[in-house]
Amino acid sequence: MVEVNEVMPREKTGVFDQIEAMEHEQLVVCYDKATGLKAIVAIHNTTLGPALGGTRMWQYKNEQEAITDVLRLSRGMTFKNAISGLNLGGGKAVIIGDAQTQKTEAFMRRFGRFINGLGGRYVTAEDVNIRTSDIEYIAMETRYVSGLPEIMGGGGDPSPVTAYSTYLGMKAAAKKAWGNDSLRGKRVLVQGVGQVGSHLVERLRHEDAQVFISDISEERLRQVANRFGAEVVMGDAIYDLDLDIYSPCALGATLNDDTVSRLKCQVIAGAANNQLKDEKKHGQMLVERGIIYAPDFLINSGGVINVAAEYEGNYQRERAYQKAEKVYDICLNILNEAEAKNIGPQEAAMQMALKRIQEVGRVKLSY
Ligand code: NAD
Repeated sequence: MVEVNEVMPREKTGVFDQIEAMEHEQLVVCYDKATGLKAIVAIHNTTLGPALGGTRMWQYKNEQEAITDVLRLSRGMTFKNAISGLNLGGGKAVIIGDAQTQKTEAFMRRFGRFINGLGGRYVTAEDVNIRTSDIEYIAMETRYVSGLPEIMGGGGDPSPVTAYSTYLGMKAAAKKAWGNDSLRGKRVLVQGVGQVGSHLVERLRHEDAQVFISDISEERLRQVANRFGAEVVMGDAIYDLDLDIYSPCALGATLNDDTVSRLKCQVIAGAANNQLKDEKKHGQMLVERGIIYAPDFLINSGGVINVAAEYEGNYQRERAYQKAEKVYDICLNILNEAEAKNIGPQEAAMQMALKRIQEVGRVKLSY
């Protein structure tokens, strides 16, 4: 069974050692000489259902880096899918290569054939550097894929649903912090106003929050500021700003040794993956500072909820939004449990996900 905190002994660095330490079920290496496709699929845990998680294409420095990434990401999907109440296990795929030059129809279709060969134990979707057009090619070779355009009966762009679940997680955290979930007048910084961040800003402004935005793209900043009436903040100053809520929606590891002691806010709730640089250490630092942290992998689950809704068939966006609504109650439960146990909410969320996997696993023991 999956453990919350696995420790990898120093002397053990082989592939089987890694799989054993992180408790994966399967690691599949796919190679096709004709197209140059090099892909790795990791299936972490299928207790709840087929392993679902996106495919990431990246120029990894070496094979070991790709293996470590796919193992880590697939394990994360087990917890994300479990905590979101989905009947899906955790898996992920990585393709080693240059997304700008290597992707062709044959390349993506060959990848689809490999996925098909897994017989539905793994269901793929979009992740970094994989576009809807790639998904269309994959879908020509397998039905174990989700993330098709709406025009083809798919769920389309998941980011509005991700922004919605993030917003609900933020409201749950606000309720915990202030006894009331209204965001009206709250000073919120949204870091990263891309696909998810911009939809989130729209919701926040609609609720009359005072929104600050930061991004490395000046054009995006200008667009979002003009469209929704948000104030632009530049550079590192964001970590010293007087805020109620900090919402990381750009990159991971922004909660680290340097930032956690500087942040002046009562709530952290954002869509970025892996916000805590060190889950234990920085999670605990936030507890000590009395800052309420809404677990990232729970509150950004709108995207996977949307993809799962498509995979179930007969996709309707309204249904995906309805399912994402559960995030509010789950988040509040987790925050209360974390407080009762005096642990960080991230850890409480992982324990809760694990409990669901164990309980449902037992249910499935009898025919
Ligand atoms: P995106 O690429 O559309 O947006 C990211 C934005 O962050 C861009 O505007 C980029 O310019 C900006 N950015 C990059 N580095 C920055 C920095 N150092 N400081 C400030 N801004 C910076 O991505 P997205 O789809 O909006 O996803 C945002 C985050 O949410 C990512 O971490 C992603 O993994 C996570 N997430 C997204 C979804 C989804 O449905 N799109 C689902 C779950 C999680």
